This record gives sequence, C-alpha cells and structure tokens, in this order.
Amino acid sequence: MSKVEQTLSIIKPDAVERNLIEEIKSIFLKNNLIIKEDKKIQITKEEAAEFYKIHQSKPFYDALCSYLSSGPIVVMVLEGENAVSKNRKLMGATDPKNADENTIRKLYGISIDKNSVHGSDSIENAKQEINFFFKS
Ligand code: UDP
Ligand code: MG
Repeated sequence: MSKVEQTLSIIKPDAVERNLIEEIKSIFLKNNLIIKEDKKIQITKEEAAEFYKIHQSKPFYDALCSYLSSGPIVVMVLEGENAVSKNRKLMGATDPKNADENTIRKLYGISIDKNSVHGSDSIENAKQEINFFFKS
C-alpha cells in the first residue's frame, strides 16, 4: 500500500559546508519526492537539544546537539508516496561505513556523527519534526 506522506529532512552542517545542498536535493527530486518547504537556518544548541530530546540519555547527545547547531543547516519538508521510508532508504544507514551504495550517507557522509542528513523515522515523528521547524 502506498500513500502520500510528508517527512522532515535536514541537510546537516558538514554537507552544507561542502556545498552539497543541490546534489542532495536532486536525489530527492529524482526519486519523486517534492520539496514542499525549504529553508536554510542556524539553530541554537538549546533548539538542537529540544529537537533531539529523544536521544537525551545517549552518550553522544551533547556532541550531537553541539554539532547540529555548529553551522547552517537546510530543513525541508519532503512529500511523496511513502515519503518517510523512502527518505530513510535514500539516506542509508546511520554510519556511512554501513550505508548501501548510492545512498546519501554512502556518497557524502564522513562519519557516524557527520553523516550529512537527518530524516524522520516514523509518520508520527515526521509530524512532530515538521511542526518543530514549520509551525503553521
Ligand atoms: N549519532 C552519533 N553517534 C552514534 C549514534 C548516532 O553521533 O553512535 C548521531 C548521528 O549523527 C545520527 C544522530 O545521532 O544521525 C541520531 O541518531 P539516530 O540513531 O536517530 O540515527 P539516524 O536516525 O540519524 O539514522
Ligand atoms: Mg533518528
């Protein structure tokens, strides 16, 4: 069963810094995901901590929040059939070393922390994350 969904995508600081915004967007577009919303911003560490609060008990939480707030990011709402799982598939595994060929993280990720993109992992989290960045 396929259905039209929305998901949140973030191009992380390591990829923005390396001018990979258009390359990454083109992967979404080629795979029939429409970019419904799109903005380049820099968030504070406090905002990053709120966004990633699901990970607050993890050993990498503080570094993760520092990292996401360390430079400009691009936040996007992607829309299309099965957008949540499709985006996760296009991103590849969290650690670029384990990511499949031709996924964004395999192509562009540097390391498990500098892995170039974020993507919502469920429809419920996608709604929350879209609302976090694009309050209507
Ligand atoms: N992360 C990290 N070290 C780890 C696991 C995760 O730095 O051992 C970072 C990584 O950048 C990842 C983010 O924390 O993208 C969120 O982790 P999650 O498990 O949700 O991975 P994702 O959903 O991004 O694949
Ligand atoms: Mg995640």
